[in-house]
Amino acid sequence: MFDFTLTSERPIAAGMYVNGQWLSRGPASAAIEVENPANEDVVATITEGTETDAGEALDAARRAFSPWADRPAIERGRLVAALADEIEVHKDHLARLVTLEQGKPLGHAKQEIDAGITFLRYAAENARRIEGDIVTSDNRDEEIHIRRHPYGVVAGLTAWNYPFALAARKLGPALVAGNTFVLLSHEATPLSGLALASLSEKAGLPAGVFNVVTGRGPVVGAALVQSPMSDLVTMTGSTRAGREIYRAGADAIKVVRLELGGKAPFLVMEDADIDRAVQAAVAARYTNCGQICTCNERMYLHRAIADEFLEKFVAASRALTLGDPLGNADLGPKVSRVERDKVADIVASAVGAGAAVLLEGGIRENGAFSKGHWFAPTVLEASKNDNPAVQDEVFGPVATAVRVDDYDMAIRFANDTPFGLSAYLFTRDHKRLAQAPYRLKFGELYLNRSNGEAVQGFHTGWGLSGLGGEDGRYGFDGYLRKQTAYLNWG
Ligand code: NAD
Repeated sequence: MFDFTLTSERPIAAGMYVNGQWLSRGPASAAIEVENPANEDVVATITEGTETDAGEALDAARRAFSPWADRPAIERGRLVAALADEIEVHKDHLARLVTLEQGKPLGHAKQEIDAGITFLRYAAENARRIEGDIVTSDNRDEEIHIRRHPYGVVAGLTAWNYPFALAARKLGPALVAGNTFVLLSHEATPLSGLALASLSEKAGLPAGVFNVVTGRGPVVGAALVQSPMSDLVTMTGSTRAGREIYRAGADAIKVVRLELGGKAPFLVMEDADIDRAVQAAVAARYTNCGQICTCNERMYLHRAIADEFLEKFVAASRALTLGDPLGNADLGPKVSRVERDKVADIVASAVGAGAAVLLEGGIRENGAFSKGHWFAPTVLEASKNDNPAVQDEVFGPVATAVRVDDYDMAIRFANDTPFGLSAYLFTRDHKRLAQAPYRLKFGELYLNRSNGEAVQGFHTGWGLSGLGGEDGRYGFDGYLRKQTAYLNWG
């Protein structure tokens, strides 16, 4: 059992969850401290998993696979729905846990838990939608049947920005499709996954169907990818790690699904509703301290409205509050010191390359911010599209604007990136709106609205933003492999 209420005075030692058992390692085994990014207190310690741990978890998942896959899908769906019910009951504690390990404001953490519940419930509803096709044959007395089967054991690797929701997003459809699962969350935020394991026990998931290991990606994660016991790897994280995983899976021709980084352009044209665009740009840049893959990462502003937009955007950015994420602040801390410093480095190189500072937020480390990893909203303006703040993913509360002459120039600059996750466009011109899907090379478009995808959509990155995609019917289908049978009765 993992006590995810975290009410103990001292940091709790959390074990791994394998084959329905909580493994507590001896004092000699290596541990990783999990830090509260708002004050640097250690809230828990986790086991630094090894290749052997990965192997044990995969073995448990493999043994659990056939009995799980043999159940009618509706039974698997009911158990996944029961897990959603357990989460609902413990929502407040789970939200607090997310805030303590990740740093997002509590209200936003509650939304993350709700999103997790939605992912699981939607997956459960899909239990009656695993279908096949019967196709006419070219031969007499013959039919072609195309069936869907689960892959087997799924290894899920998740990023630190939404530790609870990202795990639920993969777990739900994988299980309902009939696969079993081994989860490795990023070592900075491993507690949400362990809490999910605790609740899966309560919900009655059979041993081995859902296992959680802890540790570092290049060790325990790499072992999950390379092992012949995993059949499909689904990862959400950085493009850097995605490349390593893709390479590591190559020898075994592993099925690999990758949801990677983004560099979303935010286009505001001369005919846009400026107040609405500003509001959306602020939400899309600063929510979760800028740590969302679909965040507004660079703004292309038509010259005719750029001054008005920037005046309002800078004022709204300045008005945002930074502070204790268990309180009412708009922004919490960055997840770690390393991530905070990465953002500071990008700002320094952007300014070095000629960007002007419109709002100097930057690192905060005095007074109430002497502990924790704080970075205040920062606004830059760049004149060139090759500025580092315009090209590299910031993943923090730094907004960069570039002025453009017209719509064509905005589209050209927007597409000048190897990333292809999401893009935003604000315009009232219906011709532009209708053309945008043909001109913007991104997997997810937000036209006249801020970010926030729906569970029935399809969240998918093009280019360096990944391969695979999640949610909706296409995301669910990703956990099912196809088989064709030629049935001849002649
Ligand atoms: P990360 O790449 O460091 O880690 C992600 C996961 O991969 C973790 O579970 C980690 O343990 C594992 N991992 C890392 N290296 C590995 C290796 N060599 N072998 C096997 N496993 C390995 O990611 P991060 O820094 O936590 O995430 C931030 C990034 O995630 C940002 O770029 C963000 O845009 C992206 N992201 C993308 C989406 C999306 O849906 N496209 C969603 C959220 C975050």
